[in-house]
Amino acid sequence: MSKTFAIIGLGRFGGSVAKTLSSMGYEVLAVDRNPQRVQDISQIVTHAIEADSTDENALKALGIRNFDVIVVAIGDDIQASIMTTLILKEMGVNKIVVKAQSELHGKVLYKIGADRVVFPERDMGIRVVHNLISPNILDYVELSKDYSIVEIIARDFFHGKTLQELDIRARFGCNVMAIKSGEKFNIAPASTDIIHEGDMLVVIGHNDDLKKLQQKAD
Ligand code: ADP
Repeated sequence: MSKTFAIIGLGRFGGSVAKTLSSMGYEVLAVDRNPQRVQDISQIVTHAIEADSTDENALKALGIRNFDVIVVAIGDDIQASIMTTLILKEMGVNKIVVKAQSELHGKVLYKIGADRVVFPERDMGIRVVHNLISPNILDYVELSKDYSIVEIIARDFFHGKTLQELDIRARFGCNVMAIKSGEKFNIAPASTDIIHEGDMLVVIGHNDDLKKLQQKAD
């Protein structure tokens, strides 16, 4: 059986989550107190319903407990976001993912029992900055405070060399997870694989080590 999702708050973030899940074929209940937002998404998702999520009875009437994952994507109204999360928690829903506006908001959400808190604006800001600082970095995913995965364009330093010759693991302490050549993705690179001009490397490592590798690549 496929997972089912309820998305509360259909702003830019919640709307995008709901549409993406629907396009992937998942059952999605989309909820907003703004009738226009509900109307706009009604043709795309399985069910779209107007309701105020700070009203416990309204949430109960939606049968929200039956959904596997609830995403609370209320942005600016922090009080509504916290109240909604608290009510959902008390109702005993399966999994609650909540969008936070700030670190403090996130802390409160974890304290009251959110299973996962996401910071889309902060995280996107960080990813964009990494690309601005070094144009060789195409993308950046923070795994923890210290570890990340980066996509780096392989500049001169790498060209025509095998992974063994580059010896990235021993010299930089990072691991090349994948090499992309044009449209081809090599997700299990061997030590004898050669890096070509224009290739892109997906590298995992400690942030300090990734920085050193990236400086070589610049
Ligand atoms: P974003 O930054 O992702 O665009 P917004 O804050 O603009 O987020 O959008 C949040 C959405 O959540 C709005 O459509 C708003 O109507 C909805 N919303 C806010 N409070 C409630 C609530 N108590 N119940 C249902 N929907 C709500």
